[in-house]
Amino acid sequence: MLTDGVQLTDQHCHGVVTDTLDRPRFERLLGEGARGSFDSAIGLAVRRWCAPALDLPAHVGADVYLRHRAGLGGPEVAARLLRATGVTRWFLDTGIGGDTENFARLVNGTVREIVRVEDVAEQVVAQVGPVSGVYDMIEAELWARARNAVGLKTIVAYRCGLDFPLRDRPPTSFAPERRLTDPHLLGWLVGLAARIGAELGLPLQFHTGFGDPDLRLHRSDPLLLTDFLRRTAGTGLSVLLLHCWPYHRHAAYLAHVFEHVHLDLGLTIPYVGHRAGAVLAETLELAPFRALCYSSDGYGLPELHYLGALLWRRGLGALVDEWIAADAITAADAESLVLAVAHGNAERAYRAALYPSGTD
Ligand SMILES: [Zn+2]
Repeated sequence: MLTDGVQLTDQHCHGVVTDTLDRPRFERLLGEGARGSFDSAIGLAVRRWCAPALDLPAHVGADVYLRHRAGLGGPEVAARLLRATGVTRWFLDTGIGGDTENFARLVNGTVREIVRVEDVAEQVVAQVGPVSGVYDMIEAELWARARNAVGLKTIVAYRCGLDFPLRDRPPTSFAPERRLTDPHLLGWLVGLAARIGAELGLPLQFHTGFGDPDLRLHRSDPLLLTDFLRRTAGTGLSVLLLHCWPYHRHAAYLAHVFEHVHLDLGLTIPYVGHRAGAVLAETLELAPFRALCYSSDGYGLPELHYLGALLWRRGLGALVDEWIAADAITAADAESLVLAVAHGNAERAYRAALYPSGTD
């Protein structure tokens, strides 16, 4: 397949848990809510693909898999699966306990930080309290953190939804809470992140589509960002729409009409398992080939990072093979498409932080 051995840039992922996991804990990490289970598309994919990567027969039973996993030890399992992904650049969201140094010890390749803007703001509020001047402090801290990062990320979809109000100034009529939920405050914070991203050349990632039960899914439809995207077009900002399912076609449309929009499928790929190729095909119906990036959005289980890469290779590889067989694309054009999605598009979107002197 054209995707075999292609180097990947995982442009959005999280750290892994390396302690021994019993079946309930493992299965919880295999889903977004309490109902994660081996009896699912991703559970089948773990037994089919992760088992052989750990020297077990394909399709081995869940309990045998977990016993063997425990015998190898969490750090060994993580190192083996993460190094088998073929990822050479990892962009780690450090918002939920991810730590670039620990992660770098487990992987091949370089690790860079994605700064989660709501976390930075909440850390400032927790440190100084609701004092006057807190918004200036948030702004200063976000600039400082952004200067060492490769990109920024917002989880405003979780907090008030993607139809947040656009605000140039913070609300001065009240003090921020420890967990930011006020739409006006969040609207200001996202606007601030967009200005910083435009100035420093750092993409701004948005969680969109499915996620854990904290989310109201209909508020995470990326089409709700239309006004924000109109406002930020031409400012120099790149916007990265993450995960997107079941709105990947909506995201593909936005990337089609807005030059500064990129998208990935993130954890959709490992979660839909054998259907990864179908979701990639739907996304590429309308998304420009230069807009789609690779990511695993792996979190907790290194199985997710591994399956993200493996199912992406199999899904996209089979898809372009089908297009070549139907004479819809030449092999050379298919190869360019694969390389762009694997790492080329991310290298362009993140070039300011990857090549600070402009030496690419
Ligand atoms: Zn994520």
